[in-house]
Order: sequence, then structure tokens, then C-alpha cells
Amino acid sequence: MKVEERFIKYVSFDTTSDENSETYPSTHSQSVLLSLLAEELKSVGMSNAAFDGKYTTAYLPGKKGSPTVCFISHVDTSPDVSGKDIKATITDYKGGDIVLPYATISASELKDCVGTRVITSDGSTLLGADDKAGVAAIMTAMEKLVKTDPSSRCNIKVMFTPDEEIGNGVRDVDVRALGADFGYTIDGGPLGEIEYENFNAAGLEVTVFGRSIHPGSAKNIMKNAIDLLFEFHSLLPVEQRPVNTEGYEGFYMIKGVSGGVEKAEGSYIIRDHDMHKFNQKKEFVRSAIEFLNRKYGEGTFVAEIKDSYYNMSDIINKNFHLIESARLAFERVGVTPKSIPIRGGTDGAMLSYKGLPCPNLSTGGYNFHSRTEFVPIESMEKMSEVVIELVRIYANKNT
Ligand SMILES: [Zn+2]
Repeated sequence: MKVEERFIKYVSFDTTSDENSETYPSTHSQSVLLSLLAEELKSVGMSNAAFDGKYTTAYLPGKKGSPTVCFISHVDTSPDVSGKDIKATITDYKGGDIVLPYATISASELKDCVGTRVITSDGSTLLGADDKAGVAAIMTAMEKLVKTDPSSRCNIKVMFTPDEEIGNGVRDVDVRALGADFGYTIDGGPLGEIEYENFNAAGLEVTVFGRSIHPGSAKNIMKNAIDLLFEFHSLLPVEQRPVNTEGYEGFYMIKGVSGGVEKAEGSYIIRDHDMHKFNQKKEFVRSAIEFLNRKYGEGTFVAEIKDSYYNMSDIINKNFHLIESARLAFERVGVTPKSIPIRGGTDGAMLSYKGLPCPNLSTGGYNFHSRTEFVPIESMEKMSEVVIELVRIYANKNT
């Protein structure tokens, strides 16, 4: 089966994940696709292919004594944009804008794709290249690899996961049971990306307890929780908002406000690549809260800070062969590799801290989480070749 045929089949499943769900995977349709992928891995000839109710995994033995490398992609799509009834369309792209029935992709976004066959939605939904392009590339590579001589490949694991888009992609992965030495997620953007630096991330919930009284007789008595929440917010540095930051610059972002005069709540996220600066940001919040509690009375402000994930670079730097091998694999298939810091997280970051060092590679897709998402077929083909090259490289590598 061709990579685009697989891809178009996978995106026909609406696998939108749901933050408000109590189940795992958060939506049933993800389990349906994960079961189908287990069947498909079995039918291409992988060993132990199974969906365990959470994850689909499979194994392919290679050269004795070689490391076991795990290739990982997620099956869910972002709840930000509809993933239902995706009408995947192939355009032989020669230049100019691609005008879809419900959206337009501009020539500037497509500038690297002239001469390729570009898959888009009809502009009313996302496409799901994030991350079904990764799934299709891995599956296509496996179909080819099972036919190769075991001594020419390393030991291979495949894992497909749910709920990456709602931060739960690898929540229950047991890295010991998985039995891989390290891995690669295939979940990045344009072809050639190798990502191994991501944010350190925390969530911050600020709760303000106010005092309500009739506004007519409120003088020196009312404590309006909303006003006080705004006062806290005004202490955060304006230049450290997402809209004003890029590259390695971290930020504070308010993402939700609720409440009234008696009680108000603000939800924030805190991000920084640098652990020292990340800790400073959290410390700044604590001292601002202390200051405000001295001003308005102990217990007026309560802040809860919870770390979400950490920058994987510390772990990847100790296993830098992962990056060197990925660069070599891209070069061998004629793609120039490039590394940029991720301004977000990846499942690989969490896996790295669970004991499976795991950088992130490109899928070849563009405009993720958007109605103008697209992926060139040739990029997915290249990614399946990159997987095959990595497997060859690790057949002969002592790590
Ligand atoms: Zn993704």
C-alpha cells in the first residue's frame, strides 16, 4: 500500500481527543483506529502486534545485540479544529495559492512544495497530518523492513498512542515493559526537523478570595476578587507574553479567567527552555502572591503551581548519538536536517524523563491544528525512508 493510501484511510477516522472526557483514550474512535493499526501491523508481518486498550505496539527483531529503537506517533487530532468528515484532496502543486472550497492556502506557505503532490482538507476541517502522517510513514517503513534481512536492521519497536493533543499521550506508558533502548517520535513539522530542546512547563492556578457587599456601601469594605486578580496579572512582565516572545524566550500566559466579586480564578501557563529561568519565573509568582497577601490579608491569594513537563535536552545531550544518527539518516535520503528549539512540548520529552530518550522528527506536514493543514506525499515518503535509514544505522552502532 502506498503511503498516501494509508494516510487517507487514517484521516477518514474522526479521532479528535477530548479534554473533558473521563476515559483513556479520551474518545472511543481513537481505540477503533488503534485496533485497526494493530491488525495492520500484524498483516504486514510485525510480531506481537496488539492494542492493549491504551497503546498499540509491535516488534520486529533485527540483528542480535543491536539496540531496540522505538518509532512513535499519535493517532488523535487537536480538539481546536473539527476532525470529522475530513475530505482529503490531492493537488499536483505547480505554484500559486491553493484555493479550497472553504479556505485558501497562500503561495508563501507552499513555497517549499512546488513540484510535489500536496494533500489538503476541503478547508472546513483540519487534515490530521498531525500526526497521521507519522503513522503512515512508520507503517510504510515497517512493511518494507519486514522483508529485509534481520542482520541489516536493528531491533524495532513501534508504538501508536492516543491523546497527545490533550497532554496525555504517554501517560501510562511503562517504559520498562516497552523494552526499547530509545526512540523517535515522528510528530514534527516540515521535512528535516530534528527537535530535542523543548520548554520546561508548568501550570499556575491563582484563586482570589474577595468580600462582597452592596456597592453603595462598599467603601473600605469590599474586596473585589476580580480587581485583585487583575492586580496580580498586572505584576507579570508584559514583554514575557507569548505574543512578545520567540526562540529561547520564555513566557507567562493567562489562558482562562472565571469568577465574581467573592471569588475569582485565573489559569496560567509558564514556559521556559532554561531550567534556571523557569524556576525564577515560578519564584516570581510566589513572591508576587506573598506581596499581595501582605497587602490584602493572608489567604486572599492562593497560587497552585504544578510542573507539566521538562526540557528533554539534558537527557538527549547524554545520548547525542540519537541526533547524529537522525542527521545522517536525513542526509542519506537527500534532506538537509535542521534543529530548532520547540516552543512547546512533545511526548518524547515525557518519555525521555520516563527513561526512554526520544527526540522528535518531522512528519513533513504544515499548519498543524488549522483548516489549512497540508502535507506533501513526497515528504511522507521521505520520512518512511528516514525510518529505514535509522534502522540500518543502528544495526551497526554500539551505543
Ligand atoms: Zn502531534
